[in-house]
Amino acid sequence: MKPKETHFKAPVVPAGRPFVISGPCAAETETQVLETARLLAADGRVDYFRAGVWKPRTMPGSFEGNGQSALPWLQRVQRETGLRVIIEVAKPAHVEAALEAGMDAFWIGARTTVNPFLVQELADALRGTDLPVFVKNPINPDAKLWAGAVERIRKAGITSIGLIHRGFSHYGRTEYRNPPHWQIPIQMMVEYPDSIMLCDPSHIGGRRDLIFEIAQKALNLNFDGIMVEVHPQPAKALSDASQQLTPKAFADVLDRLILRKDFQDDERIQQELGVMRSDIDDLDAELVRLLAKRMELVAHIGRFKKANGITILQRKRWEQIMKRFLEMSAQLGLREDFARQIITRIHEESIKRQEEIFGQLKIKN
Ligand code: PEP
Ligand code: MN
Repeated sequence: MKPKETHFKAPVVPAGRPFVISGPCAAETETQVLETARLLAADGRVDYFRAGVWKPRTMPGSFEGNGQSALPWLQRVQRETGLRVIIEVAKPAHVEAALEAGMDAFWIGARTTVNPFLVQELADALRGTDLPVFVKNPINPDAKLWAGAVERIRKAGITSIGLIHRGFSHYGRTEYRNPPHWQIPIQMMVEYPDSIMLCDPSHIGGRRDLIFEIAQKALNLNFDGIMVEVHPQPAKALSDASQQLTPKAFADVLDRLILRKDFQDDERIQQELGVMRSDIDDLDAELVRLLAKRMELVAHIGRFKKANGITILQRKRWEQIMKRFLEMSAQLGLREDFARQIITRIHEESIKRQEEIFGQLKIKN
């Protein structure tokens, strides 16, 4: 991963390793904060030290952070370890206190990004400052809401905006605490090429044994880095105990992560990739031609059905189409849910075409 060409001043992705934000879920005690920070600083692969000061908790009565009284501990981290410190802000009062205390950067949490009123209040409080702001995705899988929050911060004049993917809420049991829906952060990376995109495998997985594989997947998808929760005694953590890593376990994760390159520098690899990609482009063109041809035929059949008083949808026929499509797809090794989605979508569009034809005046047919 090369440092990106950017008009943002910071943060810059380091060459040769992922960008890293790490530290405890919450600043619990001065000792816990400093012990974690010292170990992470000694590792040397951490760009920002994180620690929640005000914690948004689902249920009242859970540990909600130490609030403002934790800020001097984080100032000690800055002074004694040289690490830059990033904290979550959810209200203008948090921004004021954090600025006063000289914090280096802010992140907006998932439960705040979801609320345009709050994001606007934060944007107004941040106006005139130009510290980096990282915007986590909203808790619901809505790329527009995420982009809306970024736009509010950008309009307040903040030039360094990072994105953090922390997965999305869901109903029922799943493997992950917050399933990732990777297509949403990918869409955001396309929309905001100048913003660095980090993955938060701690909140996606909810379990420390999942952190490595989620982080690796993010790097494979060209994410710029990770935000990971680290605690000296994870089992005793006052929040998110099951997902925090010891500094040593986190160092192991960093050692094992494989950084894939954009291959932008290697001409031979670029060329080979170019050839394969042009084959893909040809196939895409073929797919589009076939789809257009299918729709022409659908229109022709629609006119025939209309002229002969036949309904658009015939259940038996649709069952046959689906069955045949799934059988052929299975034979060629395509996954069933993928094949089912494709043919369902094509069929929906075909019905729309024929409905248009049925709705047209006779004279136009
Ligand atoms: C956090 O990072 O501590 C946090 C509260 O995360 P999220 O907003 O992603 O739930
Ligand atoms: Mn947490």
